[in-house]
Parts: sequence; C-alpha cells; structure tokens
Amino acid sequence: MSRSRAVAARNVVVAAGAAAMAANLLPSLGCITPLRRRVLPSLAGVSDRHHIALTFDDGPDRRTTPRFLELLENRGVTATFFLLAAHAEREPVLVREMVDAGHELAVHGWAHDCLALRPPGSLRRELLRAREVIEDVSGTEVGWYRPPYGVMTGEGLHAAGRAGLQTVLWSSWGVDWSARATPASIVSTVSRSVRPGGTVLLHDTDRTSAPGSWRRTLAATGALLERWARADVLVGPLREHW
Ligand SMILES: [Zn+2]
Repeated sequence: MSRSRAVAARNVVVAAGAAAMAANLLPSLGCITPLRRRVLPSLAGVSDRHHIALTFDDGPDRRTTPRFLELLENRGVTATFFLLAAHAEREPVLVREMVDAGHELAVHGWAHDCLALRPPGSLRRELLRAREVIEDVSGTEVGWYRPPYGVMTGEGLHAAGRAGLQTVLWSSWGVDWSARATPASIVSTVSRSVRPGGTVLLHDTDRTSAPGSWRRTLAATGALLERWARADVLVGPLREHW
C-alpha cells in the first residue's frame, strides 16, 4: 500500500473513531463498514478463503463464557476470544479451559476503555502488559488486537504494532449488545452482511452490553452455526482465516 493510501486509510479509521464517540460510544459504526472493508480488508478481517472467522469480545466471564464453550464444543467449532486482561488475570482456570478446548485468544485491552479518551503515550505499555498477562495465564502466544468499541486511533494502530499485535476489527456484527436484540434479530443482522471470508463479532458476556444479552447471543450463535454448516462454510478462529 502506498504511503498516501495508507495515510488516507488511517484517517478513515480515525474519523470512524471520532464519529463513534459522537454516537455515545456505540461499539462501532455500521455505516463505515463497507468503506473499511474496501480500504483495509485485513483490518476488517476479510480474507479470500471460504471461511468465516467467529470472534467473541469482552470475556472471560465465569457466568457466561462456559456456556459458549459448551455450545462450541458440541458443534465442533473453535473461535477467537478477544479478552480483557484484567478479567483474564482473575480467571486463570477459565482461560486455560478456553485454550485446552482449542480456542484462540487475543487482546481486547486491559479494561474496556475507549482509545480516543485515553491520555496519549500510555497505550503501548498497557497493551504489552495485557498481552503478557494473557500469554502467562494461558500459556499461549497472542497476536491479534481489537480495540474496545472498535474505536481505532492512529496512536492505537501504532501502539498495537509496537506491542507485537495486529489489529483486526470485523466485517459483520449482530448488534447483540442492544437491549432490543433478539436471537432472530442477531441471526438476521449477521446473515445480511456476512459472506465467506468475513469476520463476525459477537459477545460472550453482557459485561459491556445490555443485561442478559449473552443469552440471546448464545441462542443466535447456535442458529448461525447451523446455518453455516448447511451452507458448507467452514467456521473457525482468525488464525485459520488467511
Ligand atoms: Zn468490547
């Protein structure tokens, strides 16, 4: 990618972040997704493979994550979990269960702070610490980073790269954090936008979503897996996506 195109692409991401702030910190802006997908396919998790990357954010959560692990095990599917390191540190047994079940772990941050609200200069250190904690607790290496709310800044991209993490957002979501979401709405929202080669964002906890939302996500995940199995589309973690 040329430097001017890279700068333009970065500005798109930063502008999207500013707009998301204006939208009361919604997890991201659906309206910029097609542009993001076209300009930065790897950032949007888009590949050429006949494969859907299944990703869950905001865990681990001992109340809810085990239910997702159980569902995925029953369906023989593994996924990528973007963890908050502060919770991973407190849940070492659960984190190791996730790895033992074959899932891939990634960094969602230390806490769930929006990058655009952070003081400059502190992010690289925090991402390194988050990465180290998740790697220590899990005994595996992590290589992906997804910022909270999908709000990415130029500093965030740079800091993640210097912390050895590649930033991946998503190409489809289920708006499963909303109090208005139902299993059917999550399935139809994902299905409208997802194509083979896409990356799907869901949440295995209601930590930053509407209370109880994880139950609707769990039901929707089961229905989506059935749908993708019928369509003969492979589903798995990001490490198998490219
Ligand atoms: Zn999140």
